[in-house]
Amino acid sequence: MKKVVIIGGGIAGLSAGIFAQKNGFESIILEKNSNLGGQCTGWNRQGYHIDGCIHWLVGTKEKTPINELWTTVGALDGVEIFHPESFFYFEYDNFTVDIPRDVDLLRASWLELSPEDKDEIENLYNCIKKLQFFEMPTEKPTDLMNFMEKIKLIISMKDIGTIMKKYGKMNLKEYAKKFKHTALREVLGSFLPEGYSASFVLFTLAAFTKGQASIPYGGSKALALRMQERYLSLGGSIEASCEAVELTIDNNKVKQVICNNEKIFKGDYFIAACDSYEFYERLLKGKYPDTFFQKRYQNPKDYPLSSQILIALGYEGKLDEFPFSLSFPINSFEIHKKPINRLTINQYNHEPSFAPDGHTLIICNISQRYSDYEAWNVLYKDTKAYNQEKTKIGQSVLRAMETRFSQMEGKLKVLDVVTPKTYERYCNAYQGAFMSFIPTVRGKMMEHTGRVKGLKNIFLSGQWLQPPGGLPVAVVTGKDTIMRICKQEKKLFIK
Ligand SMILES: Cc1cc2nc3c(=O)[nH]c(=O)nc-3n(C[C@H](O)[C@H](O)[C@H](O)COP(=O)(O)OP(=O)(O)OC[C@H]3O[C@@H](n4cnc5c(N)ncnc54)[C@H](O)[C@@H]3O)c2cc1C
Repeated sequence: MKKVVIIGGGIAGLSAGIFAQKNGFESIILEKNSNLGGQCTGWNRQGYHIDGCIHWLVGTKEKTPINELWTTVGALDGVEIFHPESFFYFEYDNFTVDIPRDVDLLRASWLELSPEDKDEIENLYNCIKKLQFFEMPTEKPTDLMNFMEKIKLIISMKDIGTIMKKYGKMNLKEYAKKFKHTALREVLGSFLPEGYSASFVLFTLAAFTKGQASIPYGGSKALALRMQERYLSLGGSIEASCEAVELTIDNNKVKQVICNNEKIFKGDYFIAACDSYEFYERLLKGKYPDTFFQKRYQNPKDYPLSSQILIALGYEGKLDEFPFSLSFPINSFEIHKKPINRLTINQYNHEPSFAPDGHTLIICNISQRYSDYEAWNVLYKDTKAYNQEKTKIGQSVLRAMETRFSQMEGKLKVLDVVTPKTYERYCNAYQGAFMSFIPTVRGKMMEHTGRVKGLKNIFLSGQWLQPPGGLPVAVVTGKDTIMRICKQEKKLFIK
């Protein structure tokens, strides 16, 4: 039986492991942390469970290809789904803009707010309706498709092509300016971190309004644990707290992985289901540069990355009348000399087990970019100053919350503050990135096969292979990598 060694036990590594086992390989997952799941995780603090990942999971709609894949890997098997009624509520001046689940309601409420934007609202509505038919392809990566399969894929993307042509090259801010009402401009402009192309918002809204982007109950860590159970039940093995630090390469083939605990793992195939920079620069020591990634690393303007500060708060009370997600303006405070004028929070009333009885977990996310990462990088060298900055941010958010919600005064506490450096430390994430390259107007939305020129038996897998990354890309690419290995082995792939 051929052996597959998988470096990284995130969602991509787990998916690769599950399909390796299903396809008759012996496999082992090496994970640097004591827990598997990678960025799809959660942790406990002061009686609360902080969910560190899923705000929306593409694949929550039953009988769709991506849902079937999540079910196959055990992630959604028999799990109930929480469908928030709104994507978020957005407060601006005296207006509250809702992005409801029902797209007809969205159209009606936006028309009521701004009749003068009728044309743009109708246009947005029509795009969303068209894109609702789009399903993320999961069957086969394009490099494994034959001619007819490629033609079929192109035809199925016909409607998307027209929308992509128009909005793929339009900056989100530019798109927002098409609307006359300032609240609509603001909501669209700040819907996603700066830099995204308008098309990405349309895809997100289409997925959300058709029930394809909701949240599995139990949260992120539980989802990863279910995949881990599925992997173990298929006979896979796991070596946790085991960081790969070196690869032994001979005659264009990887022979073994050497880990920081001095353990050595030999195999026939190797999958780097870890960060791409970690793979090319640390494990391959820069000896197998790939132009796809080089181009992106060297041009952060066209290929920006997103990271964030996560502030977890415990609230002594229930938030029954509160939406899941809310964005509101605040009296500005500064982080690394940049003003923060607005907060977006998610509250976990729907997950009573995430908080002590009668309490609620609240999570606030503040988007961070490369210049912010650089500032964190400098600060991180001084542990005291770094911790002081985290405390300052936590307190600023707490005060802003108390100012906006007087009922919360004296009832909030900061549970944890996570920075881009945390993602770097925990997952070896390049610049603390929590997704892959952002689809921008100038960047090319290309996929990577994960193959390494000059090496026959090692593949990259995970969120870095397809922009913009995220959990669906991780689960799909994990499977795709095993399909490529099966092809190399002349084996029929088993789903
Ligand atoms: C706060 C936050 C919110 C998010 N929200 C969403 C969301 O709502 N929806 C969505 O779709 N996505 C979301 N994401 C993104 C999503 O979590 C990631 O895209 C996905 O988990 C990436 O999976 P992966 O397996 O490709 O990579 P990772 O999760 O990074 O897994 C890589 C694994 O490899 C391990 N590793 C690294 N180097 C080594 C080494 N040398 N040796 C051994 N192990 C190593 C790491 O520890 C890690 O476990 C969010 C991410 C964050 C951080």
